[in-house]
Amino acid sequence: DENSNPTETGTDRSAKLYQKALKLMPGGCSRNTVLRKPNPLYAESAAGCFVTDIEGTQRVDFANNMAALIHGHAHPEIVTQVSEQLQKGSAFTLATEAEVDYAEHLCSRNSGFDKIRFVNSGTEAVMSCLKASRAYTGRAKIAKVEGAYHGLYDYAEVSQTASPATWGEVSSPNSVPVAFGTPQAALDDVVVIPFNDAPRAIAILDKHKQELACVLVDLLPHRVGLIPASTEFVVALREWSENNGALLVFDEVITFRNGYGGAQDNYPVTPDLTAMGKMIGGGFPVGALAGKSEVMDVMNPLNDKVLFPHSGTFSANPVTMVAGLSAMRLFDTEAVAKLNAQGDKLRAIITDAITQADVPVCVTGAGSMFRIHMKATPPTNYRDAFASPQEAKLMTALVDHLFDNGFMMINTCSGTLSTVMTDKELTHFAEVLVAGLNKLKP
Ligand code: PLP
Repeated sequence: DENSNPTETGTDRSAKLYQKALKLMPGGCSRNTVLRKPNPLYAESAAGCFVTDIEGTQRVDFANNMAALIHGHAHPEIVTQVSEQLQKGSAFTLATEAEVDYAEHLCSRNSGFDKIRFVNSGTEAVMSCLKASRAYTGRAKIAKVEGAYHGLYDYAEVSQTASPATWGEVSSPNSVPVAFGTPQAALDDVVVIPFNDAPRAIAILDKHKQELACVLVDLLPHRVGLIPASTEFVVALREWSENNGALLVFDEVITFRNGYGGAQDNYPVTPDLTAMGKMIGGGFPVGALAGKSEVMDVMNPLNDKVLFPHSGTFSANPVTMVAGLSAMRLFDTEAVAKLNAQGDKLRAIITDAITQADVPVCVTGAGSMFRIHMKATPPTNYRDAFASPQEAKLMTALVDHLFDNGFMMINTCSGTLSTVMTDKELTHFAEVLVAGLNKLKP
């Protein structure tokens, strides 16, 4: 959608604002993922699961700021906590009690979180995990899954744009640099493995035994089709890393919402480090990394030698800390179970809609996340999940239909639930979806 024609106009006020924005920011915005239908619409306000744009149109929000909101918008409890903190000041060079309270809370949610540090984005959380792994092991290389998105750090983004035009052997990331100018050195230090194929992944890892600092994996990678990692795959990665002196890092920037202690609650495996972000900020910019004490201690300034000097001007910002703590306290074990059950219900509703419309479409996802594919059968890996030009066209048409009928999705026709959504929104979504699927028929 980044290529949509900027001369097309949407509704008047937004279109006008966009013309001004185009002169000020490349593409008229600060993030390429901003929703354009056909130009960006500008948000006026939001409450609960509804967002209202500056033209006054209200929509149900399944995008949740790219999966970053767990209680929808302007939750009264979070607004109160944030307002109180703002009165006291928003950033200090001193540490705050809010940081300690939130660190205590997050560490209590997962027995693998001995220690935690806060940063400002998921990108920074993943970057810090990779740097901590290098500092701890003294090795340079990292391994990641083909196509998986982990933010903007040079190493983490290798292969995230892999497409049929460029892919060769999965293990040769050199054919798929992300940005013009990505240093060859970054490409040389990344090993790419296929998703959910333990034997092939292990064979590739074995070739870099002595050099790998860590294996980075997302348990429900969005770009890989939003299909859960198999237990067999995750256990194999854990065993391989343990046997070969590498660390296992989970990217739970999105998936942390799927369990009280993250999606990893569903696997018989403890990673050495976990990257978090998005929903743990309660609506404010955030990232965090947590894990084993001895690994986290590479950042410890009280050590004689700090192996990974780690800092950030706005890290553990007290506004984020109180918002996050408040959001996560509300997201207790009961709320997690309820939201995951709503996710199961929504995926069943979508499956019903597909059956009713009788179209070659399927739904994937787990917990409170879902993705609709213009394919008859669910994909099993990144190459399978890749949308053909025809599928991409149909997907955009469906996202547009949903948008025009009151539902905001992420552009890949995926979304997340928030705790403030009710069955009413889900039932209405089913009706609109059936109509949209029927429109896709040739
Ligand atoms: N990791 C995953 C799995 C993500 O989905 C994202 C963002 O979408 C990131 C990392 C990067 O997070 P941020 O956009 O906060 O830098």
